[in-house]
Amino acid sequence: MIKNEDMKELVDDYEEKSKKDYSNKPYIFESSVSEQALYNPKYGDDRVCKCGHRYYRHFDTYDDMYACGCKYCGCWDFEEDIKSARKTKLQKIKDLLKS
Ligand SMILES: [Zn+2]
Ligand SMILES: [Zn+2]
Repeated sequence: MIKNEDMKELVDDYEEKSKKDYSNKPYIFESSVSEQALYNPKYGDDRVCKCGHRYYRHFDTYDDMYACGCKYCGCWDFEEDIKSARKTKLQKIKDLLKS
């Protein structure tokens, strides 16, 4: 997600460029605004996706955590498996009670 301030800057930049006269230039340039999904280190690497694999597996650890999709099954969108999350929480509570 692009922040609002960044978006404003991009739009201002684009408008500034559009104002210039390119009729005597060999090239004209086009700006585009794109959105990229990024890794969130605060989200929790161990959260489990519906595809059965963990959150961090949906990113390329060798390429700056690029959102490349799940390494094992090609699942593109991480969606937390609620049942599994609940199980993990219950297990943590059980472990706490045991200790
Ligand atoms: Zn997945
Ligand atoms: Zn997967």
